[in-house]
Amino acid sequence: MSKRIIITGASSGIGYAAASLLAKQGNKILVSARRTDRLEELAAKFPGQIDTIKCDVTNVDEVRAMVQKCVDAFGGVDVLINNAGMGLFDPLIDAKLEDWHAMFDVNVKGLLTCVHAGIPELRKTHGHIINLGSVASHNVFPNSGVYCATKHAVLAISESIRIELRKEVRVTTISPGAVNTEFIDQTKNEELLKSYKPNFEAGMTAELIAEQIAHAVNMPQSSNVSEIIIRPNS
Ligand code: NDP
Repeated sequence: MSKRIIITGASSGIGYAAASLLAKQGNKILVSARRTDRLEELAAKFPGQIDTIKCDVTNVDEVRAMVQKCVDAFGGVDVLINNAGMGLFDPLIDAKLEDWHAMFDVNVKGLLTCVHAGIPELRKTHGHIINLGSVASHNVFPNSGVYCATKHAVLAISESIRIELRKEVRVTTISPGAVNTEFIDQTKNEELLKSYKPNFEAGMTAELIAEQIAHAVNMPQSSNVSEIIIRPNS
């Protein structure tokens, strides 16, 4: 059955791959991010199936407009995929306060804004929230403690939705290990970037993570995949 899906952070990596796969499977998708040129390029591959909207998840008005656009364009929201996220890695003693704040603003507060805006519509459709966590939702790694804290928060938010709303809204956390996307390139610490980049390049593909997202989306309504943890097998 075709679903009406919102994906945040769909201009690259996992979000872009998930939008492509879910569109191929016949769903209607509203993709959002800040880089709208990339969204337009994606939508052009799936005419009539993918619509676009600029949405910075740290902007409450833009998030509300995104949810409203899905309702106006497709008649409702069945799935909200909170994928937008960032990681800026640095040792604690070198870290910039604005980087810590930026990670919380996007990964936690931005995700919460989407959840807050989306829940009223998702309750109407017995819908589904998919949050991008990470293995960092479970473990804390050196040089990325604050990123790990944001992803621990994502898992806690998912759990709170499951506990309070499970009869009305399904919720899944997708928790990957290293995935080869643009993610690591945001790290400004050149030494860390150089040492981490090969691990990410040897990591999983965005398409593999998209398959896990689609698996959760396509599970029968009578079930709920709470979490998928997926690591590279190398
Ligand atoms: P990418 O950097 O390729 O994609 C990140 C996406 O988030 C981009 O589309 C970017 O779009 C968007 N984004 C960033 N900031 C904002 C913002 N303020 N508002 C809206 N969108 C924003 O990385 P990935 O695809 O790898 O990351 C996707 C998710 O997966 C993230 O939540 C990440 O934490 C998580 N993850 C990634 C792993 C990895 O190894 N790559 C491992 C585990 C989890 P734009 O800049 O156009 O706004």
